[in-house]
Amino acid sequence: MSAELRSRSWLVPLATLRRAPGSRRQVEIAASIPELAITYSCVPEGVPVSFDGAIESFAGGVNVKGLVRAPFEGTCRRCLGVARGHLVAVVDEVCMDHPRPDSDYAIGPDYIDLEPMVHDACILELPLAPLCQEQCQGLCPYCGANRNQETCSCVEPDISSS
Ligand SMILES: [Zn+2]
Ligand SMILES: [Zn+2]
Repeated sequence: MSAELRSRSWLVPLATLRRAPGSRRQVEIAASIPELAITYSCVPEGVPVSFDGAIESFAGGVNVKGLVRAPFEGTCRRCLGVARGHLVAVVDEVCMDHPRPDSDYAIGPDYIDLEPMVHDACILELPLAPLCQEQCQGLCPYCGANRNQETCSCVEPDISSS
């Protein structure tokens, strides 16, 4: 998928909606978003992120509400293996014709681009320290064995007897 096609899939036409303030449009989109990554986890490139929600118009702007779902991958904080899961993020944004400089997402007269707000919502929900599984046993601090896969013979050094 080209970058152009990809970004276009997040554009939602607004002209009809905005002619009648108070009207509402259901929106369902599934498309990839580039650069969805934080230090230890990411939504893999090219994997679709889904948005399921609605856009409601009012005089001067629109309100976008919905749920975002995406699979993520990361590095397990205990064993350094692959951690996988699904994130769910809430989008609830007011977009004005004249946004304040420090907040809000801009809208065009005829279109809204949902990509920036869906991107930001995913970033906030990506795990900072993912786990491959709740019960991950981690790595042995002495020999480095993955305790999920093998049992090593290392014993805790007994400080009191030395
Ligand atoms: Zn692990
Ligand atoms: Zn060991």
